Amino acid sequence: MTSASATGDVDRSDPGYRDWLKEAVRKVQADNQRSADTHLLSFPLPERWGIDLYLKDESTHPTGSLKHRLARSLFLYGLCNGWIRKDRPVIEASSGSTAVSEAYFAKLIGVPFIAVMPRTTSSEKTRLIEFHGGRCHLVDDPRTVYDVSAALAVETGGHYMDQFTYAERATDWRGNNNIAESIHHQLRLERYPEPAWIVATAGTGGTSATLARYVHYMQYDTRICVADPENSCFFDGWVRGDPGASSDCGSRIEGIGRPRMEPSFVPGAIDRMMKVPDAASVASVRALERAIGRKAGGSTGTGLWSALRIVAEMVAEGRVGSVVTLLCDPGDRYLDKYYSDAWLAEQGLDIAPYAAAIDTFLTEGVWPD
Ligand SMILES: *Cc1c(COP(=O)(O)O)cnc(C)c1O
Repeated sequence: MTSASATGDVDRSDPGYRDWLKEAVRKVQADNQRSADTHLLSFPLPERWGIDLYLKDESTHPTGSLKHRLARSLFLYGLCNGWIRKDRPVIEASSGSTAVSEAYFAKLIGVPFIAVMPRTTSSEKTRLIEFHGGRCHLVDDPRTVYDVSAALAVETGGHYMDQFTYAERATDWRGNNNIAESIHHQLRLERYPEPAWIVATAGTGGTSATLARYVHYMQYDTRICVADPENSCFFDGWVRGDPGASSDCGSRIEGIGRPRMEPSFVPGAIDRMMKVPDAASVASVRALERAIGRKAGGSTGTGLWSALRIVAEMVAEGRVGSVVTLLCDPGDRYLDKYYSDAWLAEQGLDIAPYAAAIDTFLTEGVWPD
Protein backbone atom coordinates (compact mmCIF):
# COMPACT_ATOMS: atom_id res chain seq x y z
CA MET A 1 0.00 0.00 0.00
CA THR A 2 1.41 3.39 -0.91
CA SER A 3 0.12 6.57 0.70
CA ALA A 4 1.50 9.93 -0.38
CA SER A 5 1.02 13.13 1.56
CA ALA A 6 1.28 16.68 0.37
CA THR A 7 4.66 16.99 2.15
CA GLY A 8 6.22 14.30 -0.04
CA ASP A 9 6.11 11.50 2.51
CA VAL A 10 5.76 8.07 0.88
CA ASP A 11 5.07 5.05 3.09
CA ARG A 12 5.05 1.67 1.37
CA SER A 13 4.75 -0.36 4.57
CA ASP A 14 2.19 -3.12 4.42
CA PRO A 15 1.71 -4.93 7.74
CA GLY A 16 0.42 -8.06 6.01
CA TYR A 17 3.61 -8.30 3.96
CA ARG A 18 5.90 -7.95 6.99
CA ASP A 19 4.07 -10.72 8.83
CA TRP A 20 4.40 -12.95 5.78
CA LEU A 21 8.09 -12.05 5.41
CA LYS A 22 8.87 -12.82 9.07
CA GLU A 23 7.19 -16.17 8.80
CA ALA A 24 8.99 -17.01 5.53
CA VAL A 25 12.42 -16.13 6.98
CA ARG A 26 11.64 -18.09 10.15
CA LYS A 27 10.73 -21.18 8.11
CA VAL A 28 13.98 -21.04 6.10
CA GLN A 29 16.05 -20.53 9.28
CA ALA A 30 14.18 -23.32 11.07
CA ASP A 31 15.00 -25.70 8.22
CA ASN A 32 18.69 -24.92 8.83
CA GLN A 33 18.27 -25.36 12.57
CA ARG A 34 16.90 -28.88 12.03
CA SER A 35 19.86 -29.86 9.82
CA ALA A 36 23.10 -31.56 10.81
CA ASP A 37 26.45 -30.73 9.23
CA THR A 38 27.56 -32.84 6.27
CA HIS A 39 30.27 -35.48 6.73
CA LEU A 40 33.88 -35.24 5.69
CA LEU A 41 34.59 -38.72 4.28
CA SER A 42 38.04 -40.23 4.01
CA PHE A 43 39.23 -41.64 0.65
CA PRO A 44 41.64 -44.52 1.35
CA LEU A 45 45.22 -43.96 0.13
CA PRO A 46 48.32 -46.11 0.79
CA GLU A 47 49.58 -45.35 4.31
CA ARG A 48 53.21 -44.92 3.16
CA TRP A 49 52.34 -41.78 1.16
CA GLY A 50 51.57 -39.75 4.28
CA ILE A 51 48.75 -37.98 2.42
CA ASP A 52 45.09 -37.75 3.45
CA LEU A 53 42.32 -37.25 0.90
CA TYR A 54 38.81 -36.26 1.99
CA LEU A 55 35.44 -35.71 0.33
CA LYS A 56 32.99 -33.24 1.82
CA ASP A 57 29.74 -35.16 1.38
CA GLU A 58 27.18 -32.61 0.23
CA SER A 59 24.79 -35.31 -0.96
CA THR A 60 23.23 -35.68 2.49
CA HIS A 61 21.47 -32.31 2.59
CA PRO A 62 17.64 -32.62 2.66
CA THR A 63 17.52 -31.97 -1.11
CA GLY A 64 20.56 -34.09 -1.93
CA SER A 65 23.24 -31.66 -3.14
CA LEU A 66 25.46 -28.72 -2.29
CA LYS A 67 22.74 -26.56 -3.90
CA HIS A 68 20.75 -26.86 -0.67
CA ARG A 69 23.23 -24.37 0.86
CA LEU A 70 22.92 -22.07 -2.15
CA ALA A 71 19.13 -22.23 -2.32
CA ARG A 72 18.88 -21.35 1.37
CA SER A 73 21.18 -18.36 0.89
CA LEU A 74 19.36 -17.19 -2.26
CA PHE A 75 15.95 -17.40 -0.59
CA LEU A 76 17.16 -15.45 2.45
CA TYR A 77 18.80 -12.85 0.18
CA GLY A 78 15.71 -12.54 -2.03
CA LEU A 79 13.35 -12.36 0.95
CA CYS A 80 15.43 -9.83 2.88
CA ASN A 81 15.83 -7.69 -0.26
CA GLY A 82 12.06 -7.65 -0.72
CA TRP A 83 12.38 -9.44 -4.06
CA ILE A 84 10.42 -12.57 -3.17
CA ARG A 85 6.78 -11.78 -2.52
CA LYS A 86 3.71 -13.64 -1.32
CA ASP A 87 1.94 -15.63 -4.08
CA ARG A 88 4.46 -14.49 -6.74
CA PRO A 89 6.43 -17.25 -8.47
CA VAL A 90 10.16 -17.72 -8.10
CA ILE A 91 11.83 -18.57 -11.43
CA GLU A 92 15.28 -20.04 -11.91
CA ALA A 93 17.67 -20.94 -14.74
CA SER A 94 19.23 -24.22 -13.71
CA SER A 95 20.84 -27.41 -14.90
CA GLY A 96 18.73 -29.12 -12.26
CA SER A 97 20.24 -29.37 -8.78
CA THR A 98 19.58 -25.75 -7.83
CA ALA A 99 16.02 -26.06 -9.07
CA VAL A 100 15.45 -29.17 -6.93
CA SER A 101 16.62 -27.30 -3.82
CA GLU A 102 14.77 -24.09 -4.69
CA ALA A 103 11.53 -26.00 -5.36
CA TYR A 104 11.87 -27.34 -1.81
CA PHE A 105 12.32 -23.87 -0.28
CA ALA A 106 9.55 -22.35 -2.44
CA LYS A 107 7.16 -25.00 -1.16
CA LEU A 108 8.37 -24.39 2.40
CA ILE A 109 7.40 -20.71 2.23
CA GLY A 110 4.37 -21.30 0.00
CA VAL A 111 5.28 -19.58 -3.30
CA PRO A 112 5.04 -21.14 -6.80
CA PHE A 113 8.28 -22.25 -8.49
CA ILE A 114 9.26 -22.58 -12.16
CA ALA A 115 12.58 -24.14 -13.29
CA VAL A 116 13.99 -23.26 -16.73
CA MET A 117 16.33 -26.09 -17.73
CA PRO A 118 18.02 -27.65 -20.76
CA ARG A 119 16.02 -30.55 -22.20
CA THR A 120 19.02 -32.85 -21.54
CA THR A 121 18.63 -32.52 -17.75
CA SER A 122 18.30 -35.94 -16.09
CA SER A 123 14.71 -37.13 -15.78
CA GLU A 124 15.27 -37.89 -12.10
CA LYS A 125 15.86 -34.17 -11.43
CA THR A 126 12.69 -33.20 -13.30
CA ARG A 127 10.85 -35.74 -11.16
CA LEU A 128 12.32 -34.28 -7.95
CA ILE A 129 11.38 -30.70 -8.92
CA GLU A 130 7.82 -31.79 -9.57
CA PHE A 131 7.82 -33.83 -6.36
CA HIS A 132 8.53 -30.59 -4.48
CA GLY A 133 5.63 -28.90 -6.27
CA GLY A 134 7.72 -27.05 -8.89
CA ARG A 135 7.05 -26.74 -12.62
CA CYS A 136 9.68 -27.48 -15.31
CA HIS A 137 10.07 -25.35 -18.41
CA LEU A 138 12.49 -27.14 -20.76
CA VAL A 139 14.49 -25.40 -23.51
CA ASP A 140 16.42 -26.91 -26.43
CA ASP A 141 19.39 -24.52 -26.42
CA PRO A 142 21.09 -24.38 -22.97
CA ARG A 143 22.36 -20.85 -23.75
CA THR A 144 18.78 -19.51 -23.70
CA VAL A 145 17.97 -20.40 -20.06
CA TYR A 146 18.87 -16.91 -18.81
CA ASP A 147 16.69 -14.92 -21.23
CA VAL A 148 13.79 -17.34 -21.01
CA SER A 149 13.85 -17.09 -17.18
CA ALA A 150 13.96 -13.28 -17.23
CA ALA A 151 11.06 -13.19 -19.70
CA LEU A 152 8.98 -15.61 -17.60
CA ALA A 153 9.53 -13.42 -14.53
CA VAL A 154 8.21 -10.36 -16.38
CA GLU A 155 5.26 -12.33 -17.75
CA THR A 156 4.22 -13.79 -14.38
CA GLY A 157 5.13 -10.87 -12.12
CA GLY A 158 7.54 -13.23 -10.36
CA HIS A 159 11.18 -13.06 -9.29
CA TYR A 160 14.04 -14.46 -11.41
CA MET A 161 16.39 -15.76 -8.73
CA ASP A 162 19.46 -15.73 -11.07
CA GLN A 163 21.85 -18.04 -9.20
CA PHE A 164 24.60 -17.39 -11.75
CA THR A 165 24.73 -13.73 -10.77
CA TYR A 166 23.87 -13.87 -7.08
CA ALA A 167 25.47 -17.11 -5.78
CA GLU A 168 28.71 -15.44 -4.73
CA ARG A 169 27.10 -12.50 -2.93
CA ALA A 170 24.17 -14.33 -1.30
CA THR A 171 26.61 -16.67 0.49
CA ASP A 172 28.21 -15.58 3.78
CA TRP A 173 31.84 -16.07 2.74
CA ARG A 174 33.40 -15.01 6.07
CA GLY A 175 31.78 -17.87 8.03
CA ASN A 176 28.32 -18.74 9.36
CA ASN A 177 29.26 -22.41 8.89
CA ASN A 178 29.61 -22.04 5.13
CA ILE A 179 31.20 -25.00 3.34
CA ALA A 180 34.75 -23.66 3.84
CA GLU A 181 34.38 -23.01 7.56
CA SER A 182 32.75 -26.39 8.04
CA ILE A 183 35.61 -28.22 6.26
CA HIS A 184 38.29 -26.46 8.29
CA HIS A 185 36.40 -27.07 11.52
CA GLN A 186 36.00 -30.77 10.76
CA LEU A 187 39.75 -31.13 10.04
CA ARG A 188 40.82 -29.71 13.40
CA LEU A 189 41.72 -33.10 14.94
CA GLU A 190 43.35 -34.53 11.79
CA ARG A 191 47.12 -34.87 11.38
CA TYR A 192 47.08 -32.16 8.67
CA PRO A 193 44.29 -29.79 9.74
CA GLU A 194 45.10 -27.14 7.14
CA PRO A 195 44.65 -28.76 3.72
CA ALA A 196 47.34 -28.15 1.10
CA TRP A 197 44.62 -28.01 -1.56
CA ILE A 198 40.85 -27.87 -1.80
CA VAL A 199 39.54 -28.89 -5.21
CA ALA A 200 36.15 -27.58 -6.32
CA THR A 201 34.23 -27.59 -9.58
CA ALA A 202 32.29 -24.66 -10.98
CA GLY A 203 28.67 -24.27 -12.04
CA THR A 204 27.80 -20.84 -10.71
CA GLY A 205 31.37 -20.57 -9.38
CA GLY A 206 29.91 -19.67 -6.00
CA THR A 207 31.38 -22.60 -4.07
CA SER A 208 34.92 -21.97 -5.31
CA ALA A 209 34.52 -18.24 -4.57
CA THR A 210 33.42 -18.98 -1.00
CA LEU A 211 36.27 -21.46 -0.45
CA ALA A 212 38.89 -19.08 -1.83
CA ARG A 213 37.64 -15.97 -0.03
CA TYR A 214 37.41 -17.85 3.25
CA VAL A 215 40.98 -19.22 3.17
CA HIS A 216 42.30 -15.77 2.24
CA TYR A 217 40.27 -14.13 5.00
CA MET A 218 41.45 -16.70 7.57
CA GLN A 219 45.08 -16.33 6.38
CA TYR A 220 45.40 -20.07 5.68
CA ASP A 221 47.97 -21.48 3.24
CA THR A 222 45.35 -23.72 1.59
CA ARG A 223 45.31 -23.37 -2.21
CA ILE A 224 42.11 -23.58 -4.27
CA CYS A 225 41.97 -25.54 -7.54
CA VAL A 226 38.94 -25.52 -9.85
CA ALA A 227 38.44 -28.55 -12.13
CA ASP A 228 36.58 -27.78 -15.35
CA PRO A 229 34.86 -30.32 -17.66
CA GLU A 230 34.72 -30.33 -21.48
CA ASN A 231 32.40 -27.82 -23.20
CA SER A 232 32.92 -25.20 -20.50
CA CYS A 233 34.56 -21.81 -20.92
CA PHE A 234 35.77 -21.31 -17.33
CA PHE A 235 39.23 -22.80 -17.96
CA ASP A 236 39.95 -20.76 -21.11
CA GLY A 237 38.47 -17.61 -19.62
CA TRP A 238 40.62 -17.99 -16.50
CA VAL A 239 43.84 -18.80 -18.41
CA ARG A 240 43.41 -15.91 -20.86
CA GLY A 241 41.91 -13.51 -18.34
CA ASP A 242 38.98 -13.13 -20.72
CA PRO A 243 35.58 -12.39 -19.10
CA GLY A 244 33.99 -12.74 -22.57
CA ALA A 245 35.04 -16.39 -23.05
CA SER A 246 32.24 -18.67 -24.24
CA SER A 247 31.57 -22.19 -25.45
CA ASP A 248 29.00 -23.39 -27.97
CA CYS A 249 27.46 -26.49 -26.48
CA GLY A 250 26.30 -27.55 -23.05
CA SER A 251 28.34 -29.56 -20.56
CA ARG A 252 27.72 -33.29 -20.22
CA ILE A 253 28.69 -33.14 -16.56
CA GLU A 254 25.49 -31.97 -14.88
CA GLY A 255 25.81 -29.09 -12.46
CA ILE A 256 29.15 -27.82 -13.76
CA GLY A 257 30.74 -26.37 -16.89
CA ARG A 258 29.12 -23.28 -18.37
CA PRO A 259 28.82 -21.70 -21.84
CA ARG A 260 29.71 -18.22 -20.47
CA MET A 261 31.90 -16.78 -17.70
CA GLU A 262 29.25 -16.62 -14.98
CA PRO A 263 29.27 -13.45 -12.84
CA SER A 264 29.53 -15.58 -9.67
CA PHE A 265 32.81 -17.14 -10.81
CA VAL A 266 35.61 -15.09 -9.21
CA PRO A 267 38.73 -15.87 -11.30
CA GLY A 268 41.18 -13.73 -9.33
CA ALA A 269 40.58 -15.73 -6.15
CA ILE A 270 41.42 -19.10 -7.76
CA ASP A 271 45.01 -20.44 -7.58
CA ARG A 272 44.87 -23.11 -10.25
CA MET A 273 42.56 -24.66 -12.84
CA MET A 274 42.60 -28.07 -14.52
CA LYS A 275 40.72 -29.18 -17.63
CA VAL A 276 39.30 -32.67 -17.08
CA PRO A 277 38.10 -34.94 -19.93
CA ASP A 278 34.52 -36.14 -19.38
CA ALA A 279 35.64 -39.78 -19.65
CA ALA A 280 38.08 -39.13 -16.76
CA SER A 281 35.23 -37.68 -14.66
CA VAL A 282 33.13 -40.81 -15.23
CA ALA A 283 36.08 -43.15 -14.58
CA SER A 284 36.66 -41.29 -11.31
CA VAL A 285 33.09 -41.59 -9.97
CA ARG A 286 33.22 -45.27 -10.72
CA ALA A 287 36.57 -45.54 -8.90
CA LEU A 288 34.98 -43.69 -5.99
CA GLU A 289 32.31 -46.36 -5.69
CA ARG A 290 35.00 -49.08 -5.64
CA ALA A 291 36.95 -47.16 -2.96
CA ILE A 292 34.20 -46.05 -0.56
CA GLY A 293 31.06 -47.84 -1.74
CA ARG A 294 29.17 -44.71 -2.73
CA LYS A 295 27.78 -43.56 -6.06
CA ALA A 296 28.08 -39.85 -6.90
CA GLY A 297 27.26 -37.48 -9.76
CA GLY A 298 29.68 -36.67 -12.58
CA SER A 299 30.97 -33.41 -11.07
CA THR A 300 32.26 -35.35 -8.06
CA GLY A 301 34.34 -37.36 -10.53
CA THR A 302 35.69 -34.18 -12.18
CA GLY A 303 36.89 -32.91 -8.80
CA LEU A 304 38.18 -36.30 -7.66
CA TRP A 305 40.25 -36.72 -10.86
CA SER A 306 41.96 -33.37 -10.20
CA ALA A 307 42.43 -34.16 -6.52
CA LEU A 308 44.10 -37.47 -7.41
CA ARG A 309 46.38 -35.66 -9.90
CA ILE A 310 47.40 -33.26 -7.12
CA VAL A 311 47.98 -36.16 -4.69
CA ALA A 312 50.18 -37.76 -7.40
CA GLU A 313 52.27 -34.57 -7.64
CA MET A 314 52.68 -34.54 -3.86
CA VAL A 315 53.76 -38.21 -3.87
CA ALA A 316 56.25 -37.53 -6.69
CA GLU A 317 57.71 -34.57 -4.78
CA GLY A 318 57.77 -36.47 -1.46
CA ARG A 319 55.37 -33.96 0.15
CA VAL A 320 52.89 -34.88 2.89
CA GLY A 321 49.60 -33.14 3.75
CA SER A 322 45.89 -33.26 3.11
CA VAL A 323 43.67 -32.61 0.08
CA VAL A 324 39.91 -32.06 0.14
CA THR A 325 37.40 -32.35 -2.68
CA LEU A 326 33.59 -32.44 -2.76
CA LEU A 327 30.99 -35.15 -3.14
CA CYS A 328 28.44 -32.81 -4.74
CA ASP A 329 25.37 -34.98 -5.28
CA PRO A 330 24.34 -38.65 -5.25
CA GLY A 331 24.82 -41.04 -8.19
CA ASP A 332 21.29 -42.41 -8.13
CA ARG A 333 20.22 -39.30 -10.07
CA TYR A 334 22.40 -40.45 -12.98
CA LEU A 335 21.97 -44.22 -13.26
CA ASP A 336 20.99 -43.75 -16.92
CA LYS A 337 24.03 -41.54 -17.55
CA TYR A 338 27.38 -41.93 -15.78
CA TYR A 339 26.54 -45.44 -14.57
CA SER A 340 25.17 -46.60 -17.93
CA ASP A 341 27.59 -48.22 -20.41
CA ALA A 342 24.98 -47.67 -23.13
CA TRP A 343 25.05 -43.90 -22.46
CA LEU A 344 28.88 -43.89 -22.54
CA ALA A 345 28.85 -45.68 -25.91
CA GLU A 346 26.23 -43.30 -27.29
CA GLN A 347 28.39 -40.33 -26.17
CA GLY A 348 31.54 -41.93 -27.61
CA LEU A 349 33.23 -41.90 -24.20
CA ASP A 350 35.93 -44.50 -23.50
CA ILE A 351 36.69 -44.51 -19.80
CA ALA A 352 39.05 -47.53 -19.85
CA PRO A 353 42.37 -45.62 -20.13
CA TYR A 354 41.38 -43.24 -17.31
CA ALA A 355 40.17 -46.08 -15.08
CA ALA A 356 43.50 -47.85 -15.70
CA ALA A 357 45.46 -44.69 -14.82
CA ILE A 358 43.61 -44.38 -11.49
CA ASP A 359 44.16 -48.06 -10.65
CA THR A 360 47.86 -47.86 -11.53
CA PHE A 361 48.29 -44.76 -9.42
CA LEU A 362 46.47 -46.12 -6.37
CA THR A 363 48.49 -49.36 -6.42
CA GLU A 364 51.92 -48.18 -7.63
CA GLY A 365 51.96 -44.52 -6.62
CA VAL A 366 52.97 -43.35 -10.08
CA TRP A 367 50.71 -41.44 -12.47
CA PRO A 368 51.10 -43.00 -15.93
CA ASP A 369 51.57 -40.48 -18.76
C1 LIG B 1 26.24 -26.48 -8.78
C2 LIG B 1 26.97 -27.74 -8.75
C3 LIG B 1 28.37 -27.76 -8.63
C4 LIG B 1 29.21 -26.50 -8.59
O1 LIG B 1 28.86 -25.58 -7.59
P1 LIG B 1 28.84 -24.00 -7.82
O2 LIG B 1 28.92 -23.44 -6.46
O3 LIG B 1 27.56 -23.65 -8.49
O4 LIG B 1 30.00 -23.61 -8.67
C5 LIG B 1 28.98 -28.99 -8.61
N1 LIG B 1 28.27 -30.14 -8.70
C6 LIG B 1 26.93 -30.16 -8.79
C7 LIG B 1 26.20 -31.47 -8.89
C8 LIG B 1 26.24 -28.96 -8.82
O5 LIG B 1 24.91 -28.98 -8.92
